[in-house]
Amino acid sequence: MASAKQDKIAPIKVRRSKVHGSGVFATATIRKGARIIEYIGERVSHAEADRRYESKTEDDNHTFLFIVDRKTVIDAGVNGNEARLINHSCEPNCESVTDKRRVYIEALRDIAPGEELAYDYQIQREDTDPANIDEVFACRCGAASCRGTMLWPAKRPAKKRRAASAKSAGKRRAKPGAGRQRASGR
Ligand SMILES: [Zn+2]
Repeated sequence: MASAKQDKIAPIKVRRSKVHGSGVFATATIRKGARIIEYIGERVSHAEADRRYESKTEDDNHTFLFIVDRKTVIDAGVNGNEARLINHSCEPNCESVTDKRRVYIEALRDIAPGEELAYDYQIQREDTDPANIDEVFACRCGAASCRGTMLWPAKRPAKKRRAASAKSAGKRRAKPGAGRQRASGR
């Protein structure tokens, strides 16, 4: 059901973002529910993703990992497209959707021309996270409901944190929005 829509070129372009580095912006109205772009990259195992990035420092900004399921991680650092540049927001206008083990960014609501696209990274917490993990993944999306971190769940209460180059820090392990996972058990 996805393939027909995918062939359309999404009305988006990359330019500098106030939130962080480069961002992806709508160049025309994008309707609620539209499938905007697929999150593309090399599909690797979790072990391979760990091997590639375990030695990277926290200020590395070239790691773009997206967890598909227990077996597969998309490394958009290899053959990735513009989707890897879409920033995080705690009050996003897009969401990530996993469909047949592929990941897409879809519009949560109508998006006006010039608006920056964003989705909630929901970066997973792990037992091995260092104590400063919330600072590493601090969020400065500016939304009224900002929870202060790109991590999910927000273990700590959201509060203002020093603005660091959050997205560029460490390994990014985003997962699809929990509310919209379509495949069962995958
Ligand atoms: Zn935020």
